[in-house]
Amino acid sequence: MYDLIIRPRKINKMKVSLVILIFVLIILIIMTSIKVVTMYKVSKGVNEYNLWVNKINEEQAIKEEQEKNRFLPLNEEEINSINSIYKHQDNKRVFLTFDDGPSKTVTPYILDLLKQENVKATFFVLGTKVEANPDLVKREYEEGHFIGNHGYSHKYRDIYSSTQAVLDEYNKANNIIATALGIPNYNSLVFRFPGGSSGGPYHDLKQEAKQTLKENGIASLDWNALTNDAIGSPTKEKIMETFYNTVQDKTSIVLLMHDASDKILTYECLPEMIKYFKDNGYEFKTMYDVIGRE
Ligand SMILES: [Zn+2]
Repeated sequence: MYDLIIRPRKINKMKVSLVILIFVLIILIIMTSIKVVTMYKVSKGVNEYNLWVNKINEEQAIKEEQEKNRFLPLNEEEINSINSIYKHQDNKRVFLTFDDGPSKTVTPYILDLLKQENVKATFFVLGTKVEANPDLVKREYEEGHFIGNHGYSHKYRDIYSSTQAVLDEYNKANNIIATALGIPNYNSLVFRFPGGSSGGPYHDLKQEAKQTLKENGIASLDWNALTNDAIGSPTKEKIMETFYNTVQDKTSIVLLMHDASDKILTYECLPEMIKYFKDNGYEFKTMYDVIGRE
């Protein structure tokens, strides 16, 4: 009897212990699994977050680098590509250029039209006009147009008094543009000599100034087609006649126009000019395309 009573009790106890042990083991396994899965998820989350942060930082660094590089002085190759702009024969391209602005009475209309036509242009702005219309030069820049430099005063006697005076005019206008755009390191990179870079009573000085600008990483650009919109008392007919006469048979066109306050006729002729270029397979380009910077 003794045996009979004791044995089942022993077996029961063992069974219970075994069950408890298994139960504890299962709990442990479950808890460990949960912990492992949680840790995995957390570490995966942390990794994904780190990757995201790294990506943002990398993109920011690239953007900052591009912004920094965008305004570095031009190297010789970049200056040469601007100097040989008219020799390009690969495809038809046109650079619309507007001097002497911005002005409240003409520039906004030109910008509206360019936006509507999806055309980018180059504006050679005057320091005095940027001082008066900083918002307009900012709009030009933000809408993807190139902001070139046309000096500060447009007074030949002042600008062409010495090569240093040319550089001073460039720098003065450049600082005003930089302030208007809110970009401290802004550099216009391309200068358009008031009255053109050759000929006239200041021809020799202009050649020296061109060299001085080049030494400072600044190119200069004239034109090979025009509208005579700033000469005498133009009419739409005269502007278009000059336009057709000077763009004819050219593959790479730099067209001179003006967006000073009294140049509304230029704006009125612009749709026909843009249509001509589009109908004849020209691509619209800016200085960004020539120097290969974005
Ligand atoms: Zn001018």
